[in-house]
Amino acid sequence: MTSTETADTIVVGAGVVGLAIGTNLARRGVRVAILDELPPASGASYGNSGFLVADTAMPVALPGMYRKVPSWLLDPEGPLRVRPNYLPSALPFLLRWLHSSRAAQVRLSSDAMRKLHEPTFDEWKALVGPKVYDSLIRRTGQVYLWEGEGASSTPMEDELRARHGINVEKLTPGDIQEIYPGITRDISRAMLIPGNGHTTNPGRLCGELLQAYLDAGGQVLHERVQRVWSSDGGWRLMTTSGQTRLSNRVVVAAGAWSHRLLKPLGIDVPLESERGYHVVLPNPSVELSMPILHKSGFFGINSMEMGIRLAGTVEISGLEATPDPVRCEVLVRKAKRLFPELRHDAPRMWMGHRPSVPDTVPVIGPVPGQPGLFTCFGHGHCGLTAGPASAKLVVQQMLGDEIAIDTEPYSISRFTH
Ligand SMILES: Cc1cc2nc3c(=O)[nH]c(=O)nc-3n(C[C@H](O)[C@H](O)[C@H](O)COP(=O)(O)OP(=O)(O)OC[C@H]3O[C@@H](n4cnc5c(N)ncnc54)[C@H](O)[C@@H]3O)c2cc1C
Repeated sequence: MTSTETADTIVVGAGVVGLAIGTNLARRGVRVAILDELPPASGASYGNSGFLVADTAMPVALPGMYRKVPSWLLDPEGPLRVRPNYLPSALPFLLRWLHSSRAAQVRLSSDAMRKLHEPTFDEWKALVGPKVYDSLIRRTGQVYLWEGEGASSTPMEDELRARHGINVEKLTPGDIQEIYPGITRDISRAMLIPGNGHTTNPGRLCGELLQAYLDAGGQVLHERVQRVWSSDGGWRLMTTSGQTRLSNRVVVAAGAWSHRLLKPLGIDVPLESERGYHVVLPNPSVELSMPILHKSGFFGINSMEMGIRLAGTVEISGLEATPDPVRCEVLVRKAKRLFPELRHDAPRMWMGHRPSVPDTVPVIGPVPGQPGLFTCFGHGHCGLTAGPASAKLVVQQMLGDEIAIDTEPYSISRFTH
């Protein structure tokens, strides 16, 4: 086996996060290589809903949520599935997730998320340039919908929006009929978040980000990293190429697989895959002027270049289990209840891994006691939004820049101490 001095910095993972880190580094003159055995941005970064939620800073675990979990698990169309054989593995994560729903933690997590979400439009423009940005990103607003009776938001959701000065507009059922012709009359409540937006093609957007990275001089190597360890003041990576790669710094940005690289170093992070599904309905008879988050149906709908994309479901079944097509069928049934006249060509289904930590705050920064090792993963439901600002932050930390925000909430030490 040969050893090759590959780059000053190696980034593990070519999702949106790794590509954005690479682009920032290469533009600052750092010799950088991204290692990923899969084509760039073919994981969660490809298959997400495309929402850019600048004005959403809502942790997944909210106060009182534990009361809803049993009914979600029992509902075959519910938003949360845990495959019974995976329950023993998932339990520690689920318990920490419920623990994170305390009001004080929720406020801390929300503040940390806000700093990464709010700049998303500016950060995307800086990464891909104004021409690509204009062709792929729309700051249209986003609509939340509810069916049936009840409150539209919990008191904590209202509090967090007020805390961050987020503007929301209440919409009447009449407004909804006007904005979305053909929508069911069962929608009882709706809310517009004007500051949110979306991309019309997350895969193509990440492809443009890859191009920006290559244009800046970055290198991509199609190899899986099997092991990372420190040696002689630097880092060595055993990869599927059969070579041991050498570099001064390593950034672990391997999405839902990141904890596997850290575990042999004695670093245990509660990272879990929240598996999510999407269905693309090509040539749809309905076009949405703004994306929808159906809050009581727990799914999103977005008009994209390839058709309407429906996305949702949290399935806790680990990284290896085969996808469950029933989750996609549920999404299509829900969409047809929302738009009863919806017509389209044959649906295309997909499953991917949201890299999630219990407190919803990505794990960004240097790893204490491991000089030259950095992390940037754990973006859960919001990595397309938060990836660019997270990448900028970790690069600032690597290069010793002055940093305007408190970096402590993102540190891995919250799990390791
Ligand atoms: C259904 C669904 C809907 C979503 N909707 C939205 C949304 O609307 N808005 C939003 O902001 N976010 C959304 N997300 C979340 C978002 O897609 C993710 O948070 C984000 O893509 C994570 O990016 P990443 O780069 O960390 O991970 P990934 O895109 O998963 O990339 C990780 C990469 O690491 C590579 N890798 C893993 N292990 C190794 C190894 N050992 N060696 C080399 N490479 C390795 C993998 O091959 C992969 O390419 C959604 C996610 C899903 C699944």
